[in-house]
Amino acid sequence: MTWSIRWKLTIGTLTAVACGLLIAGVLGIQSLERQHLAHVGEILTAKTKLVEYGFHPLFASPAVPPTSSTLQEAARELGNRASARVTVIAADGIVLADSAVRDADLSTVENHRARPEIQQALSSGQGQDIRPSHTTGERTLYHAILMRRSTDAPPLVVRVSLPLLTLDRERSELQHQLLLALGVAFLVALTLSIWLAHSLTRPLSDIASAARQFSSGSQPFHIKTTAQDEVGLLASTLNSMADQLRARIDELSEDRSQLLAVLTSMVEGVMVLDYRGHVLQINPALEHMFGIARVEARGRPCAELFRHQQLNDLVAAILRSRVPHEDEIVLPLSGRCLQIEASPAGGERENEACVVVVFHDVTELRRLEKIRKDFVANVSHELRTPLTSIKGYVEALLDGAKDDPTASVKFLEIILKQSDRLNLLIADLLELSKIESGRVSMKEEPLELRSVVERTLSMITPIAEKSHHRLVTSIDPSLPPVPGDEGRLVQVLTNLLDNAIKYTPAGGTITVVATLAPPGGTADQPVRAIDLSVADTGIGIPEQDRPRVFERFYRVDKARSRELGGTGLGLAIVKHIVEGHGGQVWVEANRPQGSRFVVRLPLTAKMRGPLS
Ligand code: ADP
Repeated sequence: MTWSIRWKLTIGTLTAVACGLLIAGVLGIQSLERQHLAHVGEILTAKTKLVEYGFHPLFASPAVPPTSSTLQEAARELGNRASARVTVIAADGIVLADSAVRDADLSTVENHRARPEIQQALSSGQGQDIRPSHTTGERTLYHAILMRRSTDAPPLVVRVSLPLLTLDRERSELQHQLLLALGVAFLVALTLSIWLAHSLTRPLSDIASAARQFSSGSQPFHIKTTAQDEVGLLASTLNSMADQLRARIDELSEDRSQLLAVLTSMVEGVMVLDYRGHVLQINPALEHMFGIARVEARGRPCAELFRHQQLNDLVAAILRSRVPHEDEIVLPLSGRCLQIEASPAGGERENEACVVVVFHDVTELRRLEKIRKDFVANVSHELRTPLTSIKGYVEALLDGAKDDPTASVKFLEIILKQSDRLNLLIADLLELSKIESGRVSMKEEPLELRSVVERTLSMITPIAEKSHHRLVTSIDPSLPPVPGDEGRLVQVLTNLLDNAIKYTPAGGTITVVATLAPPGGTADQPVRAIDLSVADTGIGIPEQDRPRVFERFYRVDKARSRELGGTGLGLAIVKHIVEGHGGQVWVEANRPQGSRFVVRLPLTAKMRGPLS
């Protein structure tokens, strides 16, 4: 059982007070009794002397000793006057007279020789004793004096006794009063001690409950106190300690939330490991990269979590050497390319950051690098092919072919054709580079698609007619105007129609259609668009090549494309222009034969960004 401080204080104080009162009471009673006895003793001594003196006349003549009845008479008389019991005892202890005994019973009274006061009186002249009387049974104070009669007559002892009834009554009255006082004092002490304990422990209880609320985090810690004592000092010290603690906690949680905000908003994946290589923290970017949940990752060994040999080797190496390490890994499932930088963080105990690993997703960078390399290789190749041809024919001319008029005309025609091709290639490259670099700003004029189509067809029709193609157009007359750049859209349509003509054997049908696209976007933000398509009945594009034909220099059949004077850049230019209008372009099969290129243009002006 645990006792509260209040009870300990109350019971302790009460016990101390009760003991004090008890001791004081007992000592008081004893001292009072002693004083009273001394006082009564003095009175009794005086009375005994007077009584003894009163007996003297009876023994004035030694020749005529008093008779027993005379002596008894005198004892009763003197006893009455002294308000006490008077006994006369012979030196041998026989009771000669006793004021409290009837004459007839005198002979039966016990010998008093052994009584202590008689013995003292016989030996030293006087004696005193307190005891319960044999005769009355009451507690009695006896005083005895030796009364000498003459030289030869044996002395007598005169004894006067007083019952201590009053003393006993007074003592019991005193005891009652004392008990009452004790009771009152106890009650006062009880009240006082409860009040004292309460006033002492209340601030402590306040401190305890404030600390409880503080620890549960429900309230800020503040103890209201006006006390100037040690408890007040303790309360104000705790208040200022709690304030400092709160400020420190606020500071730490601010730091923590800032750190979390940084970690959460980072594009790079971050992983913090302890000295054993166990994961302490990972950020959302890393969760996303590896498809793992933070809660599952925490506390697990890095090697077990990632199961990527190269990454595990890197972590093991930095844990061993504590020097920064770098590597690049490719994730087997997603194929993403991650650049890893691991740096030591200094922690050497459990739950302390020992290594920080940062993952940069360089997939796009590497893809762009590859595109750039491929592009450079492709451009060199594309430029070199006509140049080699020109150089070859020029050398052949110089080597003598110039002297053969037929051959020289033929060779010069080839040189002209290759120069045109070179020119076209350079023009397309420059165009593409201009569009890609964003130097060409696309206008956003409201355009009637019909006029765009008609403008293009007026240029293309003569070429189509050369190959005996049939050109069919179908423009929905209710189409709203499209925001866009007319010149660029003419360029798009020209490239698509040019390809359709090129890759359709003579006598084919080329159809240009403009309709309202099916509704797209979300219910909240519907996107309205127009589909402009160019379909042919030509050679078509195999399904696996369709997504790639918009890449620079990608050709389904290189030889055929070159033969037809293609640069491999036409569709790349189309794609860039369409995306510059916020649209999309794709190719699908045209049933029953050929290809169908679709350009979807949004009706709301929203440049630079494909349709959702
Ligand atoms: P090119 O100058 O070679 O035509 P493009 O970028 O215009 O380059 O086209 C890329 C490739 O797409 C072409 O080489 C060709 O293989 C294919 N292609 C384009 N349009 C058509 C079409 N209408 N029919 C069949 N194949 C096409």
